[in-house]
Amino acid sequence: MLAGGPCAYNPEPLADIIDFFLIGDGEEAINEIVDCYKTWKHSGDTDRQNFLKHVASIEGVYVPSLYEVSYNDDGTINAIVPKIDSLPHIISKRVVTDLSGAAYPERPIVPYIDIVHDRAVLEIFRGCTRGCRFCQAGMIYRPIRERSADSLLELADKLIRATGYSEMSLSSLSTGDYSQLEQLVKILLERFQDEKVALSLPSLRLDSVDKSLLERIQSVKKTGLTFAPEAGTQRLRDVINKGITDDDILRTVKYAFRQGWQSVKLYFMIGLPTETDDDLYGIAEMARRILDVYYSIPKEQRGRHIDITVSTSSFVPKPFTPFQWDPQDKIDRLSYKQHLLQQQLRMKHVTYHWSDNRLSFMEAVFARGDRRLGRVLAAALANGCRFDAWTDYFNYEGWLKAFEQCGIDPEFYAGRIRSYDEVLPWDHIDAGVSKDFLIRERERALKGKTTFDCRRACIKCGMERWEGVCGNANVDTL
Ligand code: SF4
Repeated sequence: MLAGGPCAYNPEPLADIIDFFLIGDGEEAINEIVDCYKTWKHSGDTDRQNFLKHVASIEGVYVPSLYEVSYNDDGTINAIVPKIDSLPHIISKRVVTDLSGAAYPERPIVPYIDIVHDRAVLEIFRGCTRGCRFCQAGMIYRPIRERSADSLLELADKLIRATGYSEMSLSSLSTGDYSQLEQLVKILLERFQDEKVALSLPSLRLDSVDKSLLERIQSVKKTGLTFAPEAGTQRLRDVINKGITDDDILRTVKYAFRQGWQSVKLYFMIGLPTETDDDLYGIAEMARRILDVYYSIPKEQRGRHIDITVSTSSFVPKPFTPFQWDPQDKIDRLSYKQHLLQQQLRMKHVTYHWSDNRLSFMEAVFARGDRRLGRVLAAALANGCRFDAWTDYFNYEGWLKAFEQCGIDPEFYAGRIRSYDEVLPWDHIDAGVSKDFLIRERERALKGKTTFDCRRACIKCGMERWEGVCGNANVDTL
């Protein structure tokens, strides 16, 4: 069994279950894996272990059963080493440098039931250089790689013809940062005008929203405006390096309201490092100020309704982020914060959604866990746990019982501050960003110091060690 994707950057909790992992981009490596499998199959060899030894030699592939983990008396990891000399001590992620030339699913399966992302998806670029400190995707998908506008137009045509979708999402980690976005949106809207294909631009940053872009998108269909300020105060936004201001937010919604937009969704996180109650009050204050902006516009110049949705998720510290050493807030503390927000957000036209803290706790345990959690997974399954990310099926008691049966304290993984010296369960994986860079960023976070977007100048995140992989690594304009 093979696994990949962002969760594979800490493969250890699934070490007993998955035969091998692919770390990083799959477009090229998957062909090498399939070729390796075919060769082994045709050789007549029937020993799986032999196949795993072969596949482990492919760059980016990690076979956990071929690595040994030793532990210290306090339960922390002592070392993770290969059992065979020829295997690398560190497994480096795969990076596809030319996305325009890479394979893309041009004829995706269209389900006949409702799904969450029920639209055509066009990945316009990969990677993000903004450097939000909580964001694992922003770290592990470095460096930035754009698809050319020409290749995107060709793909868009194929996708719409093959699926019949009436909505297309321009997907990336920060869509407003695509260098030719305005031009691309203009051409796409013109091309699909007759079919009335709506464009959705998720992951727009407030500071990157161009006004004429908003106009263009709404010329076909007004989809809701979705923004992620992440924190309610400037102080905390500086800590997490979310380089946007209250003014950015208010200026953008004012413009959007004047253009007739009526629905705004705001995403925040609670439980971020250094958070205080003032930061929570800041979330409510922002919703209030957005309402004020709406009412400050004359009736005939704004939409007829206003609908603000505030959603909070509970912060989960993730591997390969500057907060990978930090503890998660305890469940009681997170519940207190949600309760405070429920009180503060009791406003007309404002709806508040919050996440299940018990689920966030489980996420925190497995995000930064080690291979001893494999036993817990097996016990939880035996206790009847299935489809737990689906709220109706979440069986928290089954999980707690599993931890108890295995003699493992989940707080050891979720609620403990780790030292910089500790061997982390994912230290044998190289995601590109270096530990030195992550430590530097964490120290800056604690001082409330921001770090600029490295497209302005390289800040040596670690990717610069990989020659020719980051096109920006030599940019030093400051
Ligand atoms: S190597 Fe430099 S420019 Fe490239 S992603 Fe890292 S910090 Fe940014």
